[in-house]
Amino acid sequence: MSKIKRISAFKKEACDECGICLHKCPVLQLPLEEAKEEISRLIEGKESKLALYKCNTCFSCNLYCPKGANPYQLILERWNDLYYKRGAPPLYRFVCPTETPNIWQLLNVFLSPQERKWIHEWMNYVPKPGDKILLVGNYTHLFPFVLGGSQLLSYFKPIDRIDQWEGGAYLYQGGYLDVVQKIARRTKNDFDQWGVKEVVATLDAVEYIFNEVHPKEMGVIHEQHFKNLDEWLLEKLNLNEIPIKKKLNFKVTIHDNCYSKAIEGKYWEPPRKIVEKCGCEIVEMEHNRKDSLCCGFGAGASWVKNIAIPFDIISEGTKKFKEAEETGARALISYCGGCLYLLWATRELLRSKIDIYHVVEVVRLAMGEELPYPEAHVKRAWDIIAIITYQLIISLFQKKFYIKKITYDKKRTTFFPRNHYFLLKAIRILFNSTVIRAMYARIFQCFMPLMKSR
Ligand code: SF4
Ligand code: SF4
Repeated sequence: MSKIKRISAFKKEACDECGICLHKCPVLQLPLEEAKEEISRLIEGKESKLALYKCNTCFSCNLYCPKGANPYQLILERWNDLYYKRGAPPLYRFVCPTETPNIWQLLNVFLSPQERKWIHEWMNYVPKPGDKILLVGNYTHLFPFVLGGSQLLSYFKPIDRIDQWEGGAYLYQGGYLDVVQKIARRTKNDFDQWGVKEVVATLDAVEYIFNEVHPKEMGVIHEQHFKNLDEWLLEKLNLNEIPIKKKLNFKVTIHDNCYSKAIEGKYWEPPRKIVEKCGCEIVEMEHNRKDSLCCGFGAGASWVKNIAIPFDIISEGTKKFKEAEETGARALISYCGGCLYLLWATRELLRSKIDIYHVVEVVRLAMGEELPYPEAHVKRAWDIIAIITYQLIISLFQKKFYIKKITYDKKRTTFFPRNHYFLLKAIRILFNSTVIRAMYARIFQCFMPLMKSR
């Protein structure tokens, strides 16, 4: 396939440099004059000390801009420029499936036999023309029990290709735009070779990437029809094709993820209607929908210091938990698998008592399915905290890097564990003790104000 130039979604000609976007930004909240100067520096590609170092990629500024100029994508363009100058932070290897070690490779050490079986099936099935495929995706892979064993999977052929990188969704948020373009070409190749026509994505972010970003920004047009799982679930519930056996009577609050703001309104209502159909009552957080606060993930995008990344992420997540707990809801519902794993890790580190469910788990409970809740999530949260702790330690000895490969090598050596990871296992064994967990959470909380960069 020939190299096609990327198309910037920032509309320079529409922007009158009014500064409203960065003035209203829930993170920066710049005085208007300062906001005007900052946007002007960003447009001219001059040194920025604010947006590029503090933005948490929440998408909200696009909704605040009265001219529809897409200031968020201007920030992504400038991060893309910075990537060529400085590379990626060492800790970022963590979410790069072609680097070693990465979270999926390390998680293999902790998966249960049942989880291995599900993942093995999803990773190795080669789709055929006519299959309706469900993209399990990189983040839902981290807690396969959310989907595994459910009747819902009988409607699909579930596919788990870690080196599809969620279509590039999370790299896009970090401004790795040229890498996202390579991923767009790679995924097009996969879909065309398989000959599939219908693709359902577990993340609305991934559906958005395939439907909007690949064709409009990356110059890669897919032939397939993409839908997100919430849309599909709501259709089936409306048609009574998914039987609700018991109303849940939970009071819940909804976490709107960053990507849900990408097309105003499209992604916000389906998960709300789904949980209401399952018998839940919704109480909204102070910041919801277009003003929703980040789960914390986006805080890692504008990295300043490698060591600060986990502290920045959990620190941003703390604001979300405060708002969620203030609602008095029994549970916080996420409709994004990427947010879910961070929310669970944050919950454990903050010692919060609020329940956290994926919207799919709410449907499964209402269908009368048994879930390993909350044990499986708590265990996985500590697996992930152990992996992040381990990766943070080894990243102190690693250099910045560039993402060179998009696809695994044939032996998938970056997916299967390559050594015994004694240090990782030792950390994880320590976390089996509730006393150690409490101590670690306390130490993390004490260090957070000192280590975070924002
Ligand atoms: S991007 Fe929009 S809100 Fe921001 S300065 Fe330009 S016109 Fe104003
Ligand atoms: S994406 Fe969010 S955090 Fe970043 S500048 Fe826009 S509103 Fe602010």
